[in-house]
Amino acid sequence: MFEKEREELIQILKTRGIKNENIFAAFRKVERHLFVPEVMRFNAYKDVALPIGQGQTISQPYTVAYMTEALNPKPGQKILEIGTGSGFQAAVLFELGARVFTIERQYDLYNQTLKLFDKLGYKIASRCSDGTIGWSEFAPYDGIIVTAGGPAVPQNLMKQLVLNGKMIIPVGDKTTQTMKIITKFSEDDFDVKEAPYFAFVPLIGKEGWKE
Ligand code: SAH
Repeated sequence: MFEKEREELIQILKTRGIKNENIFAAFRKVERHLFVPEVMRFNAYKDVALPIGQGQTISQPYTVAYMTEALNPKPGQKILEIGTGSGFQAAVLFELGARVFTIERQYDLYNQTLKLFDKLGYKIASRCSDGTIGWSEFAPYDGIIVTAGGPAVPQNLMKQLVLNGKMIIPVGDKTTQTMKIITKFSEDDFDVKEAPYFAFVPLIGKEGWKE
């Protein structure tokens, strides 16, 4: 179902500058319409964010593709995602062969998405907690991707990144953020690249916004 729409979406991502063929292959496999509420299925392959309940959104496909391209996970790498939401970003990482760990702070969303992963056969480790603290049991991670916008880079997450690992995280105020693409060379040496004008729901937690 929706093969044609998925292909059209991939063409849009190409015109917007996404280049990695592995990402297009993953976008062909992950059926975005299964990650949105049923009434929104016919809008699932438009390049827009959509509401998923609890005041949260499934990110715009371009944003997912952009962050995934920046992270560029290799098969077998351990990736931590903060902000599971619908599970779409986690599913894309899984299809790229990553070992995915994902954290969602809202119990209803966590529970709903856990069931979806089971139903669709995605072997993704999920947890319901404050992701700004990370998930120390499985650290360090080869990559960390934060899909909610915070006021600063959580230091707990920096600590849980391997040397030469990458973190992709939107940082800014509650409405607009700059995407930071961070490479960690050592505990106190990082490279940071930035891309402006992203809009995420707030990252709420110990090292995020207060509720
Ligand atoms: N990656 C998701 C995007 C969901 S929106 C997708 O593909 O659909 C961001 C999500 O981050 C929301 O569900 C929100 O509840 C969650 N969130 C916000 N702060 C968080 C925190 N500190 N820890 C874990 N999840 C958080």
